[in-house]
Amino acid sequence: MQPNDLWFDSNKCFLANKWVDPQAGNFLQLTNPSTGEILCDIARGDQSDIDIAVHHAKAARAGEWGRMTAVERGRILQRLGELVLENADVLATLESLDVGKPLKQAKADAIALARYMEFYSGAVDKIHGSTIPYLDGYTVYTLREPHGVTGHIVPWNYPMQIIGRSVGAALAMGNAAVLKPAEEACLTALAFADLARQAGLPDGALGVVPGLGAEAGAALSGHPDVHHISFTGSAGTGRIIQAAAASNVVPVTLELGGKSPQLVFEDADIDAALPFLVNAGIQNAGQTCSASSRILVQRRVLDEVVARMADKYSALQVAPAMHDRDVGPLISARQKEIVEGFLAQASNLEVAGRAQLPSDLPAGGFYVAPTLFADVAADHVLAQDEIFGPVQVIVPFDDEEQALQIANGTQYGLVASVWSRDGARQMRLARKLRSGQVFLNNYGAGGGVELPFGGTGLSGHGREKGFEALYGFSTLKTVAAYHG
Ligand code: NAD
Repeated sequence: MQPNDLWFDSNKCFLANKWVDPQAGNFLQLTNPSTGEILCDIARGDQSDIDIAVHHAKAARAGEWGRMTAVERGRILQRLGELVLENADVLATLESLDVGKPLKQAKADAIALARYMEFYSGAVDKIHGSTIPYLDGYTVYTLREPHGVTGHIVPWNYPMQIIGRSVGAALAMGNAAVLKPAEEACLTALAFADLARQAGLPDGALGVVPGLGAEAGAALSGHPDVHHISFTGSAGTGRIIQAAAASNVVPVTLELGGKSPQLVFEDADIDAALPFLVNAGIQNAGQTCSASSRILVQRRVLDEVVARMADKYSALQVAPAMHDRDVGPLISARQKEIVEGFLAQASNLEVAGRAQLPSDLPAGGFYVAPTLFADVAADHVLAQDEIFGPVQVIVPFDDEEQALQIANGTQYGLVASVWSRDGARQMRLARKLRSGQVFLNNYGAGGGVELPFGGTGLSGHGREKGFEALYGFSTLKTVAAYHG
């Protein structure tokens, strides 16, 4: 399938359930990262398109959407989840073409998108306020209410999953959502919007305006009628968005990057750990906010872990996304340049393992050979900065105290895992690791939609996924009634 076979207008904005030309008549081009060829045009929306989307969102809140009960909203999301599942193969194909991720990884993302709809459709009528014992003659209770209009600025690496967790939860709580997908990859955002229309989402409850960050993104994050911003992407842009939200004094959820460590102790089940150690680094070619780009290994098992990870690296197959091998291209020439810039700073490091790039890869694709570095100092730039490519470093440690110090020794704090058979150590580290999620003898727990997710430090703040997101996408009103 090609984008020009699509059932919706991929070069338009999605406004009040209709496909509408961008007001200024400007367009951008999507590139297929596997080949470097142009995929199709998309709208280059700007302030005027965002204004229209926000206008429709406010009208939706004041109209049918705002009056719907939780159970009615849940039914629409349930239907939307079914439609996503029915279209999972098409959505996966679009995501593979657009993002460059192997087909099975894209299919898993489509299933996750459906799961978010299922989870939030079932959860939304279980969220409620409470009564508070207070002074004699009073009844006090709380109401959980939507923010109003929510803005969602989404990156290119996991469009479906990120839309699922942020837009899904926002709609569940009755917000009207305006989505600005990434200029590098937005086909599944548009497809999702059309499925939402088919599922019965009223006009204006979801608007999608593709475009550049500095234009459509800035217009959305600084819009005075947007009451909450959810952003996933780089720390630099996160700062800009937080400042824009501050100018309107509205809350933001920032899901930024990470330098997530896995701690491998000498008593670990290394057979069990190995697939997680490697997969968590190379999935989606390492372009994952929760990628595990640091592997911390206790010296007594260092040689074994390095050798066995290196074997896995040699066996990795790099191929165009539609060939569905282990690793596809990076998203863009720019991202490839960023990753190669890091590799250029690694000339003093020992390459422990590297996958071969096949000679028949399309010349225009953005491929980087997955690379594993061993014996890297904890303060090396490759062990400190988010690379966002298929590159992992192994950092040795002597004991638990040093492991903790290294693990907590970056500006990030998104995900961490501990591989050890010592239960007391697991509990100690789970408390002491500075991280939004900690996994014990696994990594990522299958990405479960039920598990609250978010960071500390430069990884951001606020939580999405699970019930926690429903609290984040709503606000609490306290009602105190005096009746004597
Ligand atoms: P980015 O943060 O600039 O872009 C993410 C989203 O923000 C896109 O939709 C973009 O259009 C929008 N945006 C950009 N500038 C904006 C602005 N001024 N106002 C409002 N919205 C704006 O990320 P990028 O440039 O695509 O990638 C750069 C680096 O960011 C990567 O190398 C990687 O390290 C990191 N990154 C992290 C994640 C993540 O999931 N944490 C995702 C993508 C990129």
